[in-house]
Amino acid sequence: MFESLQDKLNGAFRTLKGKDRISDINVAATTKEVRRALVDADVNFKVAKDITDRIREKALDRKILISVEPGQMFVKIVQEELTELMGGQAESINIKGDPAVILIAGLQGSGKTTFSGKLASLLKKQGRQVLLAACDIYRPAAIDQLKVLGEQIGVEVYAEPDSKDAVSIAQNAIAHARKIGKKIVIVDTAGRLAVDEVMMKEVEDIKSAVKPSEILFVVDSMTGQDAVNTARTFNQRLNFDGVVLTKLDGDSRGGAALSIRQVVEKPIKYISTGEKMEALDSFYPDRMASRILG
Ligand code: GDP
Repeated sequence: MFESLQDKLNGAFRTLKGKDRISDINVAATTKEVRRALVDADVNFKVAKDITDRIREKALDRKILISVEPGQMFVKIVQEELTELMGGQAESINIKGDPAVILIAGLQGSGKTTFSGKLASLLKKQGRQVLLAACDIYRPAAIDQLKVLGEQIGVEVYAEPDSKDAVSIAQNAIAHARKIGKKIVIVDTAGRLAVDEVMMKEVEDIKSAVKPSEILFVVDSMTGQDAVNTARTFNQRLNFDGVVLTKLDGDSRGGAALSIRQVVEKPIKYISTGEKMEALDSFYPDRMASRILG
C-alpha cells in the first residue's frame, strides 16, 4: 500500500536526516520535494500545495531549525500534517433507529456488495442483529453475490429477484427486519460504470424512503483523482456521512486517501484491503500517516 509515495517521501527526507543543523534553504528544497511526491501520488494539487505550505511554515520555526535532530522534527511535522489532512480523528458510523438503516452507494465495481458483506460480518461479530437488503436490481448477479456472502457470514439477505422497484425492496426489507427482530439493515444499492442520472435519482429516492442513519459512499482508491471527483458528485446529491476506500491493497499511490477528506469534507470511515470478508479496517488517520511514512 502506497509504496511509491513512501519511497518518494523518504527520498525527500534523506537530505535532512542526520544533519545537525538545517537551514531555511534545506527546508524549502525538501518541502518542494514533498509537494512533488504528493502530486505524483495523485493528490489534488491544491491539497498538496496547502499542506506543504503549512509544513514549511512550521518547519521554519527557529526551535525546529536549531533543534538536536532537525530532520526528525521535520518528519514529525509531516506526519502531523498528513494526519490532519486525513481528518485527524477516527470517526465511527451512526447506528440509530429501529431498525437502523445503513445505505451503501457508489459506482459499479467499486466494491459495494463486498463491503456490504464485510460490514454485516463486522457488526454481527459485535453481537448485532443484521439484515442485508439486495437493492441492486440491474445486475442480476449482484443478488446472488450478496446471497453467497450472506451464507458465508451467516447473515440473512432480503431479496426480491423479480422486482424492478429498488425503493419498495428497501422498504420491504425494513418491514421484514422489524418482523424478525433485526436491528440493522444494510442496503446495497445499484451502481453504474459512471455517474448517471437514473442511478442518482434512485439512490436519492431510497434515501428519502428509508431515512438511513448512515450513508456510506464506497469508492475504489486505485482510481485516484477520479475517486475524489466521483465522491464530490455523490456528496452533492446524497450528502453522505462517510467514505469507504476499497482496494487499498492495490493502491501504490494514495492520492484518493490523502485528498478526499479535504476536497469533499467528509471522513473516511473504513478501508478495504482485499476480497476476503476479514479485509476491512476502521480508518485511523494517524495510523495511515505512519504507514505512509514507513
Ligand atoms: P460493486 O459492483 O460495487 O458491488 O462491487 P463488488 O463488491 O462486486 O466488487 C468488485 C470487484 O472488486 C470484486 O471482484 C471484488 O472481489 C473486488 N474487491 C472489492 N473490494 C476489494 C478490495 O478491497 N481489494 C481487492 N483487491 N478487491 C476488492
